[in-house]
Amino acid sequence: MFDVYKLTDEHQEIRAAVRSIVEDKITPAAAEVDAEARYPQEAHDALLATDFFAPHVAEEYGGVGADALATCIVIEEVARGCMSSSLIPAVNKLGSMPVILGGGEEIKQKYLSQLAQGHGFSYGLSEREAGSDTASMKTRAKRDGDDWVLNGVKTWITNAGVSDFYTVMAVTDPDGARGRNISAFVVEKDDEGFTFGEKERKLGIKGSPTRELFFEDCRIPGDRIIGTEGEGLKIALRTLDHTRVTIAAQALGVAQGALDYAIDYVKDRKQFGKSVSDFQAVQFMVADMGMKLEAARQLTYAAAAKSERDDDDLGFFGAAAKAFASDVAMEITTDAVQLLGGAGYVVDHPVERMMRDAKITQIYEGTNQIQRLVMGRKLLG
Ligand SMILES: Cc1cc2nc3c(=O)[nH]c(=O)nc-3n(C[C@H](O)[C@H](O)[C@H](O)COP(=O)(O)OP(=O)(O)OC[C@H]3O[C@@H](n4cnc5c(N)ncnc54)[C@H](O)[C@@H]3O)c2cc1C
Repeated sequence: MFDVYKLTDEHQEIRAAVRSIVEDKITPAAAEVDAEARYPQEAHDALLATDFFAPHVAEEYGGVGADALATCIVIEEVARGCMSSSLIPAVNKLGSMPVILGGGEEIKQKYLSQLAQGHGFSYGLSEREAGSDTASMKTRAKRDGDDWVLNGVKTWITNAGVSDFYTVMAVTDPDGARGRNISAFVVEKDDEGFTFGEKERKLGIKGSPTRELFFEDCRIPGDRIIGTEGEGLKIALRTLDHTRVTIAAQALGVAQGALDYAIDYVKDRKQFGKSVSDFQAVQFMVADMGMKLEAARQLTYAAAAKSERDDDDLGFFGAAAKAFASDVAMEITTDAVQLLGGAGYVVDHPVERMMRDAKITQIYEGTNQIQRLVMGRKLLG
């Protein structure tokens, strides 16, 4: 009876397996990856070698078929050691979800099988002038014979230049109804007319390249459309319902990493002749951090279960988990810096990096204001 509400043995085994790989191969490089703003190739290789590169890919396409909760646990555990590296499994899911949700069998077979083998997948929705207001995008895809020809610019694209495949949303019917005039396409890195901008210089997640995608008369074959014409934005937004749960998982991971580090530090650090953990003011801070983190975890895992079942209320739960967990992660990482005092503010300890990294979880895949808008609409009808 009481076994109902807990992780399965398999989920716990996945957590232990990922944690061991992260501690061995990924955490040791995290400070250098951040300082040099370089792609964490060692994490890429380690995740690929252990089937955690794109764990969500179904077995029928050559993947390991991790369910939504298991995928969250993978992302959470990688983020606990290195947020930049956690974007590898997270963005591989984000980029490929439109194919999974909206694609026919042929496009699934072609791209998901390559993803499982290590060809990364990015997601191109945002533009410089179309961030929260995605429907106002300007990137255009025009039919030409059997082909599509893309022109425009996508902005802020995670793992751009590293990934081999890109889901790109583009207007296919400029005179059509707003939001229903957009289609989704798979673009390959080597397609002619497709190039990348400079790497953005960011506050955090510096190991994950963020670049623009440029399309100049980029010609792709007709069968690269995902689903049918006009369905693109619907597929893109349905994708986000699922993947906001993975951003929540990232937030849990970075918060857990900061809390664990701060706990060790306050037990060890002595002032006024005793451990600073003996002061009640410090104990209360740690208690609040643990309490909020666990609340965020329960909400995130419930949302992951809803993602797995594709429940009707996933839209609310995905937004709620993402907003709550990311706000909590920002609080916990900031408090972790506080608990280390001056040591928290310097790069000798990982908590300042974690605080910088945590901030993005409140912004991408829709800002937390947009999440509240989504939740409000779901509740109010
Ligand atoms: C590092 C990084 C990686 C990213 N990766 C990707 C990626 O891989 N693929 C991709 O497609 N995009 C990506 N993005 C884009 C990201 O999703 C957008 O930045 C985000 O959705 C916000 O859009 P914006 O930056 O244009 O902000 P804006 O929409 O200009 O928002 C500015 C402010 O106004 C607020 N606001 C806007 N509209 C409303 C409203 N209706 N009600 C209340 N407040 C509102 C916002 O909350 C925000 O505070 C990434 C961004 C970053 C920084």
